[in-house]
Amino acid sequence: MADTSYIGRFAPSPTGPLHAGSLVAAMASYLDAKAHGGQWLIRIEDIDEARTVSGAAESILQCLAAFGMRWDGEVVWQSRRKALYQAAFERLGKHAYPCGCSRREIADSRVGVASDGAAVYPGTCRNGLAAGKTARAFRLRVPDASAPDECIAFDDRWGGSVTQHLASEVGDFVLKRADGFWAYQLAVVVDDAAQGVTHVVRGADLLDSTARQIYLQRLLKLPTPHYLHVPVVINANGEKLSKQTGAQALAPAQPHTALIAAAQFLGLPIRRMESVDDFWRQAIAGWADRFSIPA
Ligand code: GLU
Repeated sequence: MADTSYIGRFAPSPTGPLHAGSLVAAMASYLDAKAHGGQWLIRIEDIDEARTVSGAAESILQCLAAFGMRWDGEVVWQSRRKALYQAAFERLGKHAYPCGCSRREIADSRVGVASDGAAVYPGTCRNGLAAGKTARAFRLRVPDASAPDECIAFDDRWGGSVTQHLASEVGDFVLKRADGFWAYQLAVVVDDAAQGVTHVVRGADLLDSTARQIYLQRLLKLPTPHYLHVPVVINANGEKLSKQTGAQALAPAQPHTALIAAAQFLGLPIRRMESVDDFWRQAIAGWADRFSIPA
């Protein structure tokens, strides 16, 4: 049944052209939106200007269009929305605090390693900037280990129930970086809410970020969308496929092999297609079936 309230999105960081890994994330979010009869939005996450590659966003959009993935509405660019992030940051009030610690100091503190491999912040500046330090970044104070809301739990539509203990598994995390850019965690929460996103479908490399995002949604009194994290495509060395790990750019003029490979990766047994439109008909039906989404 068409769910007109469904709003999904694909939110690529424009660090390079679309490749087999990012196509899987794009495809999964597109299929979920189409299977629900909902909208599919595109947001270019160019907030990290140091990593943004000129022309990459346009090349991603061109490839999506050539592969038959039509988005709804105007493309949204994070680099043009900084005032919204500033406003949300101000609403966080005392939950945010300035931090003067360097990466090395945090790594040397050896409080623990977060599930994403980063060092857990030891809390040095939690109760005021430590002597002799100047503010470099701003962090969000996560609940104390003994607080009632210390654990964040959610149901992932792909992998099932997930629980994360923010204090021990993540620590106080960055909202505004030492280089002055807004952190992904804040920008994504503000934008998902501002765009009315009801369903987030993305790669499992972001599963670990979800509890942080839910905690921020609670503090900012924003709704929590449904989440579905698809497995990430890895290369022969077991690394997530990305431009840095040698992913090949997809050719807009050759959609067939790339679309079939991405669908098969997602567990949709599509072997042949008459046309790009025929591919999407099969893939949407297969996805709806797999996630029991009524037609
Ligand atoms: N911009 C992120 C990426 O390209 C995705 C963020 C998200 O889907 O929440 O990996």
